[in-house]
Amino acid sequence: MMTVDLRSDTVTKPTPGMLEAMWSAKVGDDVFGEDETVSELEQKTAAIFGMEAGLFCPSGTMTNQIAIKCFTQPLDELIADQTAHVYRYEGGGIAFNSGASTRLLDGYRGIITAEMIEPEINAENIHYPHTSLVVLENTVNKGGGSCYTLADIKPIAALCEVKGLKLHLDGARVFNALTHTGDKAADYGKYFNGISVCLSKGLGAPVGSVLLADASTIKYARRIRKVLGGGWRQAGFLAAAGIYALDHHVERLKIDHAHATILGEELSKLSWVSHVMPVETNIVLFDTVESAGIVLARLAAQGIKASDTAKHRIRFVTHLDVHADQIEHVVKVLKSLE
Ligand SMILES: *Cc1c(COP(=O)(O)O)cnc(C)c1O
Repeated sequence: MMTVDLRSDTVTKPTPGMLEAMWSAKVGDDVFGEDETVSELEQKTAAIFGMEAGLFCPSGTMTNQIAIKCFTQPLDELIADQTAHVYRYEGGGIAFNSGASTRLLDGYRGIITAEMIEPEINAENIHYPHTSLVVLENTVNKGGGSCYTLADIKPIAALCEVKGLKLHLDGARVFNALTHTGDKAADYGKYFNGISVCLSKGLGAPVGSVLLADASTIKYARRIRKVLGGGWRQAGFLAAAGIYALDHHVERLKIDHAHATILGEELSKLSWVSHVMPVETNIVLFDTVESAGIVLARLAAQGIKASDTAKHRIRFVTHLDVHADQIEHVVKVLKSLE
């Protein structure tokens, strides 16, 4: 039976070309600053986004948490949408690592605006936590892969500048956003103080994320990474996978988006599906008439793995290891459940 894993774009395995790049990586002890492949990945990623410096970390959770630590002091507050990964899926790390609180906004599919943020910035008052940071997510995971355009980001960056707030981007899927919007990665550096870029989502590297910022922030971030136990030695083998992913797996993201669009269109024709969120990138969120658990069991019986995000909501994520023939198979199975 054909199997298709639509649970997440984290499930990809390294391609033969990527493994080749990993085997042949030049490595050294990165804690001594001697791993040239790690340095190359950090510099390459920074250059792509027009930022000064980078820090290679094991996960997007770590890059986000380090950024929050760099951009806040204990007793500060950050502003984010209520669906934000940094708040919901990083284990309460904002309070634990940074001693900061979080002000949550109710955006549209996770997208917030300068108009929504401005009234939530606390005035200088001994009663109030000091607002110091805004965190955006692009694409928004919980928003079904929804995107900010640069035109959406600019007024937020301008507000942060005026109010003296830092602006961090959780860009776990930033290349998916860029693929959809057509914005240029190099323009992002002007608007964000920090950017997290995941290599292990749609880009298909086995592990790793890069935090981007200015050189002095990255110098401090390197200390924080060490404190968290993230000083990794010959990490160049993993960085090589990241470099390969940046060189070979960005262009192809449009294939994942096309696959997700097909799934979204087919789902919206089915009577057992009550609603499909608009598909912008590689995530399809849809609501089911029956419980999600029942539908997932039927899909699993046909070799299709997916996940539920609410009692009646299922998520499909397309990626590198889902090919056109597998999408055809999924469409056939979806129709057979009518
Ligand atoms: C996956 C993800 C992260 C980072 O997750 P890790 O598993 O820690 O690499 C961060 N933000 C968003 C929106 C994500 O989807």
